[in-house]
Amino acid sequence: MAAPNPDAPRGDKPRRDAPRGDEPVPRDRLRRLTARERERYAADHPTSRALFDQADHLIGRVPMTWMSKWSGGFPLYLDTAAGARVTDVDGHRYADFALGDTGAMAGHSAPAVTAAINRRARQQGGITTMLPTEDAEWVAAELARRFGLPYWSFSLSATDANRWAIRLARLVTGRGKILVFSYCYHGSVDETFAILDDAGDVRSRPGNVGPAVDPASTTRVAHFNDLESVRAGLEHGDVAVIVTEPALTNIGIVLPEPGFLDGLRRLASQHGALLLIDETHTLSAGPGGMTATEGLRPDIVVVGKSIGGGVACGAYGITEQVAARLAEHTRSGAADIVDVGGVGGTLAGNALSTAAMRATLSEVLTEQAFEKMGELAARYTAGVQASIDEHRLPWSISRLGARAEYRFSSPAPRTGNDSAAAADPELDEYLHLYLANRGVLLTPFHNMALMCPATEVADVDLHTELFAAAVSDLLGR
Ligand code: PMP
Repeated sequence: MAAPNPDAPRGDKPRRDAPRGDEPVPRDRLRRLTARERERYAADHPTSRALFDQADHLIGRVPMTWMSKWSGGFPLYLDTAAGARVTDVDGHRYADFALGDTGAMAGHSAPAVTAAINRRARQQGGITTMLPTEDAEWVAAELARRFGLPYWSFSLSATDANRWAIRLARLVTGRGKILVFSYCYHGSVDETFAILDDAGDVRSRPGNVGPAVDPASTTRVAHFNDLESVRAGLEHGDVAVIVTEPALTNIGIVLPEPGFLDGLRRLASQHGALLLIDETHTLSAGPGGMTATEGLRPDIVVVGKSIGGGVACGAYGITEQVAARLAEHTRSGAADIVDVGGVGGTLAGNALSTAAMRATLSEVLTEQAFEKMGELAARYTAGVQASIDEHRLPWSISRLGARAEYRFSSPAPRTGNDSAAAADPELDEYLHLYLANRGVLLTPFHNMALMCPATEVADVDLHTELFAAAVSDLLGR
C-alpha cells in the first residue's frame, strides 16, 4: 500500500471519525474500499512512485507543494498531454477534468497556442525583452470587448493581478482595508486569508503561513449570499474594495442567490468602495465570465490562468472612472506605478505570454467553444445527479458553465462556511482514487471537473459510469 506522504501539507478540513445520525456512507466500508484503491494505485504506478521517492531535493518531494495533494500518497508523473487527455509515465491514459485547475481550460497544448508559442519563441524570437509587441493591445481590446472595462494591464499570475489591483484600489480610494468572503481564495494575496468564525469574528484562515500582520487589521469579512454582513463590513467606511469571485469556486462551488450580486454592486457604490470581480475560475461561465452572463458592473476585473492556454499570465482591467482617478494620483508623482512603487513585475506582459493569450482568446476559448463546453458540463452534471437521486444521497452538484463540482451536502451550500463544513476528505480520497485508477482525473483539491474544447462526450460518459459504480460499490448495492 502507498504510504501517505509525511511532507504533504495538512489541510484545514475536518476528519469525520464518528458516523453522524444522517450519515449515508458506511465509514468502515469506505475505509476498506479506499485501502483497496490505494493498493491498486500503488501497484499500477511504480514509475511515478519511484520518481517521487527519488525527489530528495524538492520541498515536499514535488515542484510545488500542492502537487502532493493527489490522493494515493504520491502524484502521477506526467508523460504527455494533448487536448483533454494526459498520459502518465506508467503509460496510463486519462480523461483530464482537472485541466491544471483551470490553467488548461483551453485544453493541453492546443495547436493554435503551440503554433503561437513556436512563432514567437523560434521564428520571430524574443520571449522576454523590455519591448512591447502588438499582441498586448490586441489582447487588451479583446478583454475590453468581453468584460466591458476599457483599460487593462498584465501579470504572470492571477495572484499578482489581484495584488496589484488591490494596491490601485487603496490608492484611488484612500482607504486601507478590503472586504472578502469567508473561505474565498484569490491566490496567495495576504489580505484574503481571513474567515469569519462561529462568533462572527474575523480570524486568520486555518493554516495561513507566516502572516505579516493579523488579517483582521487589513480585512473585513462577510458571508457570501448575505448582504447584511456585507453592509456591516462596509459601514465602517474603511473598505477600499470588495474582492470576490461572482460565485465561490474554491470551497466547492457556491452560486450567488438571485439579487446578491446586484446588491453587492449597490452596497459598494453606496459606501464608496470599489468592486473587484475575480473571474479567474468563473470564466467557465462564458467568454466574458459571469461579468457578461450576469450583467455585472465591476470597477475592476481580474482574470488569469486559462487565458494563456497554459502559459503563465494574468490581467486586470479597470473602468474609465478608476483610470481617471488613477491618473490624478500618479500625475503628481506621489504614486509610482511605473517603476518601484509596488505594482508590476519584470516578466509581466512578456512577448511569449501575450502571444499565447492572443492565440487562446482568438482561436481556442471562443464563443462556440464555450457553448460546447457548457453542454458537456450539463451532461456531466445530469449524470452525477442521476446517481445522487437513485441512491437518495444528501449530496449536491453545482454547475457554472463549463465547470461542475459535487459536494457532500444537500441542498448545495450557500456560504463558504457551510461549504467548508460539508468537506469530507475521506470521501474525496475514495472517489479520486477510484476514478484515477480507471482513467479519470479530477482536480485534487476538491471535486471540480472542467470541460475544455477538446473534451468529448465519451469522457463525460466514462465519468458518469465510474461515479455510479463507485457509489454503488460504496453503498454495497
Ligand atoms: N483567483 C482565483 C479565483 C483562483 O481560484 C486562483 C487560483 N486557484 C487565483 C486567483 C490565483 O491564481 P494563480 O495561482 O495562478 O496566481
